[in-house]
Amino acid sequence: MKFSKQRELILNYILNSQEHLTADIIYGDLKKYNPELSLGTVYRNLAKLTEIGAIKKVSLPNQVDKFDKNLDPHAHFICDRCAKIVDIKVTNIDNILSNISNDENIFIKRYDIVLNGICNDCKKN
Ligand SMILES: [Zn+2]
Ligand SMILES: [Zn+2]
Repeated sequence: MKFSKQRELILNYILNSQEHLTADIIYGDLKKYNPELSLGTVYRNLAKLTEIGAIKKVSLPNQVDKFDKNLDPHAHFICDRCAKIVDIKVTNIDNILSNISNDENIFIKRYDIVLNGICNDCKKN
């Protein structure tokens, strides 16, 4: 299998998922139908896809890196009970970040906004 073909396979897997995926999950699932795939290849392609902006890497505290198809500016909500990760649309993230950059005279390259609490489903139970 060619390199570009594997990259496409990995990208499509992420685009078709509703989850924030780890390299291990992606590898474990794709390996079933693509026995020649290696974990190293998955890592390399995830790094490349992140670099070209096709996906976003999400670094959450105390968790392995996850990969996200949602490229819109958003925060992540993590449920304390079921550990679900939910995308939270924050409409003025860009304004907030540019205000911080100006006030502190810094250049922000990346950010991860993490909210913790109890999700909607768990609140009902
Ligand atoms: Zn929950
Ligand atoms: Zn997300």
